[in-house]
Amino acid sequence: MLGSMSDLSFVNEDWERALCVVAHPDDLEFGGAAAVARWIRQGKTVVYCMVTSGEAGIDGMDPSECKRVREAEQVESARIVGVDVVEFLEQSDGVLEYGVPLRRAIASVVRKHKPEIVITNNFRDTWGRQSLNQADHIATGKATLDAVRDAGNRWVFPEQIKAGLEPWGGVTHAWAAGSPDARHGADITETFDVGVESLKAHSAYIAGLGWENFDPAEFLEGMSRATGSRLGVAHGSPFEVLSMGWGE
Ligand SMILES: [Zn+2]
Repeated sequence: MLGSMSDLSFVNEDWERALCVVAHPDDLEFGGAAAVARWIRQGKTVVYCMVTSGEAGIDGMDPSECKRVREAEQVESARIVGVDVVEFLEQSDGVLEYGVPLRRAIASVVRKHKPEIVITNNFRDTWGRQSLNQADHIATGKATLDAVRDAGNRWVFPEQIKAGLEPWGGVTHAWAAGSPDARHGADITETFDVGVESLKAHSAYIAGLGWENFDPAEFLEGMSRATGSRLGVAHGSPFEVLSMGWGE
């Protein structure tokens, strides 16, 4: 739409370290990975944390085998965008519950990696309109927001402090990738193709979906063009930005 008003602002890129916490292998590759590739090229450090190994994600594959396959696909897909560290928290795929155990697991990763920005997936009820979100995504996103606060308080999960981790209260913002409430976005024009390659790395998972004629490039382009036009660039990736401080 020529001349349409940009209603998204660019995300702040004045930071050094980010931690991405998502429920499943492939969650980042369905939209956020091209932005990660951009930040890696800017010299930033990004670490991935998978809450589950996506072991319940392929109907025709036993979970023990699926776990091995999907962890390998995620590590490769991270490598493609330049992410060297992928943590797997090995929680149970498909039945994640928002609660203290999930907060505890995520807080330990925040304390370990000391990020300034924590990126999670959309945790709203839908992806916009009537497209329902999935329970693991909602649980993970909500637990991640709380875990960021937990990580800064030495009296919350004190056993982690006793075991040698330090409290980390340095996260300034949490970003939810793909949120329908996004008011910000990243310009992924230069790294769009890298993002496509990182999605293609999930080949066993994509085959298991059984989507006929699924084209990763076309699928991602549909989303990134729409977001890009709202940002005033060719390709964009949307983020809901939440301040972790008070009154900011
Ligand atoms: Zn997912």
